[in-house]
Amino acid sequence: MKLLFELSSENKKLDLIPDCDVRSYELEDKYLRKEKPGLPELSEVDLSRHYTELCKQTFGVNDGFYPLGSCTMKYNPRIDEEMASLRDFTDVHPLQGEDSIQGSLEVLYRTQELLCEITGMDGMSLQPAAGAHGEYTGLLLIRRYHQARHDEERVNIIVPDSAHGTNPASAVMAGFKVINVPSNADGGVDLDELRKVVGKDTAGLMLTNPNTLGLFDPNILEITKIIHEAGGLCYYDGANLNAIMGRVRPGDMGFDCIHLNLHKTFGTPHGGGGPGSGPVGCKEFLKEYLPMETVKKEGDRYVLHNAEHSLGRVRSYYGNFLVIVKALTYILTLGREGIIASSGKAVLNANYMMNALKKCYDVAYERTCMHEFVLCLEGLKKETGVSAMDIAKASLDYGVHPPTMYFPLIVHEALMFEPTETESKEVIDNAIAVYTKLYELAHEDPEYLHSAPHDQPIGRPNETEAARNPILRYQKEC
Ligand SMILES: *Cc1c(COP(=O)(O)O)cnc(C)c1O
Repeated sequence: MKLLFELSSENKKLDLIPDCDVRSYELEDKYLRKEKPGLPELSEVDLSRHYTELCKQTFGVNDGFYPLGSCTMKYNPRIDEEMASLRDFTDVHPLQGEDSIQGSLEVLYRTQELLCEITGMDGMSLQPAAGAHGEYTGLLLIRRYHQARHDEERVNIIVPDSAHGTNPASAVMAGFKVINVPSNADGGVDLDELRKVVGKDTAGLMLTNPNTLGLFDPNILEITKIIHEAGGLCYYDGANLNAIMGRVRPGDMGFDCIHLNLHKTFGTPHGGGGPGSGPVGCKEFLKEYLPMETVKKEGDRYVLHNAEHSLGRVRSYYGNFLVIVKALTYILTLGREGIIASSGKAVLNANYMMNALKKCYDVAYERTCMHEFVLCLEGLKKETGVSAMDIAKASLDYGVHPPTMYFPLIVHEALMFEPTETESKEVIDNAIAVYTKLYELAHEDPEYLHSAPHDQPIGRPNETEAARNPILRYQKEC
């Protein structure tokens, strides 16, 4: 596909802006351009076609089934976008006085309260900008807590080997040392191994439950007890709450603080580089350290509030406000019953799909899964030479976005599926048929799969090169 610069031809530019009638200033010569900026010149219709063509090169939730495990690419209701585009929300300025933004403060306050209710926490900061940022903020709360008690030797954060990659990274960023704890044969935390690594140096544990294998750890109360008895705190990675919202609360599982990804569970699409939001919640005894500012209600008024020993700001102003508007809309439109129905359907869809695919593929763990499940293609690869990557790439030609590949790291040749709650039986049945067909193809024509996809704008780019040396700007030939 040609770029705008390559489509450009002289004198096609649009000139709709009237001559400037504001007095101009003489600038010093050193600030002036020596030559024209080299902008492309196209007619409006060519420009419009260019962007339409560009958007056909990609695959999004609106193109088809997108079962990206852990990262969640679920469909988000249009009404969330509609509320977030109301001018009363888009035109508000963060430096306006409290009196003139009571409605916006109410949005923040009600979101804080509802997220506390859903997670079983007592305080919530909406400031962090994404999941990993929330993890970092939550870990700073844990650090403040130990520091305030002069418990300086608590420097270790325990992280299971199934953890999302951001967990150990955030722990190191927050100044901790990471201690890994292995999983047991059922995919949960190995309790004996956990008991071995806790001690006076334990600052806390970071865990997600259901974990990244899509499995709920039945020992969760024992796990949080072991950490608390050793004097540590428990951090819940709630990036993906799709399986448990409305059903079980991290606060009741013994967790002391948590982050949520509003851009996975609560009404904002994940991916595309758009803004996210990673609110951090905590139990009463950690509230005094929450970032500035939270919103309090005093009588009929909403006011900004700084916690007594706040760790300060982790982001400018109030977080990604419009993402918060979408989350509140999402929660209020679903209501209590809708939230419970949503997590129920997410789990049902995943189990339905897993059980159908079990007829040909190996499932990594033979258990009831939560909102996602992991296939292990190690056997298939040995038998046919076809890898998880080959199957994933080929699914694109059948209108299905690949699942998450090669994660979690403890499963070899992993494919991780999260069908999400909004997909119908017909859509999931079609995806099952696609992956069953690909399984047959792996035995009949492995070569075809090694070179898949065959019908996409690009096939197999060098992903390392693309990530390490991205070309993001047009290089003009001189
Ligand atoms: C996505 C995810 C994160 C990180 O969230 P970002 O917004 O991408 O920083 C952390 N933990 C888990 C389990 C996740 O799925």
